[in-house]
Amino acid sequence: MEYDKNNIFARILRKEVPAQVVYEDDYALAFHDVNPKAPIHILVIPKGEFISFCDFVEKASPALMVGFEKAIHHVIHMFNLQEMGFRLLTNQGVHGGQEVPHYHMHIFGGRPLGRMLSQE
Ligand code: 5GP
Repeated sequence: MEYDKNNIFARILRKEVPAQVVYEDDYALAFHDVNPKAPIHILVIPKGEFISFCDFVEKASPALMVGFEKAIHHVIHMFNLQEMGFRLLTNQGVHGGQEVPHYHMHIFGGRPLGRMLSQE
């Protein structure tokens, strides 16, 4: 599968589409999810053309992989989530229910988050 350069997160990265950005560095961009599922729902995306978790691990440089993880960690601390806790989630492919084909990590927090998976 080829990376779609016009997916919505690619356009947000290029600043063609606005987003409520909370953090940016050389490796990652973090912004509020447009349809939040928790009081705090941030998306962190790596800078580069990566479709999914597997694509990222297979293609990203070690520096980018570390930088991306550190950006997630930074955002967790920006929102003071480290004490009460949070959930990290990434979806991949059809069974994962991935909607946007640019690798992203969801950060959920701000309330007890309930069961890990729905019962359906
Ligand atoms: P996925 O199912 O791919 O893991 O999650 C995609 C997420 O991106 C969803 O939670 C959805 O609400 C969010 N999203 C989709 N389009 C936009 C957008 O244009 N802006 C922002 N900020 N979030 C978006």
